[in-house]
Amino acid sequence: MQKTGWRCHVCGRRIILLENVDIDHIRPRVHGGQDDEGNYLASCKRCNALRGRLHHSEIKEALAFGKWALQEIHKQSVIGIQLANLYGKKWVTQQERIMQASKKGSP
Ligand SMILES: [Zn+2]
Repeated sequence: MQKTGWRCHVCGRRIILLENVDIDHIRPRVHGGQDDEGNYLASCKRCNALRGRLHHSEIKEALAFGKWALQEIHKQSVIGIQLANLYGKKWVTQQERIMQASKKGSP
């Protein structure tokens, strides 16, 4: 916790409740990471779950891909529609609600 200043090392959010913190392996065990203090950083449970087994070098690529995928879905391009169908209608419905809510909130 001191290494990250009581913040999640992935999203930077301040960690207030210990029940919301995970001990994240900087180098995942599947990539040869060890179970020692030098390989641990604090992260919130959500970030750790989303990160899964991705290596740090893969996180930026996953974010860039996710950002591109969202843009394609929002444009409703052919690939965006395919991505949305593959990822799931529940998620699309959630995104539509978010977009409608943001339209209502805009001036
Ligand atoms: Zn986080």
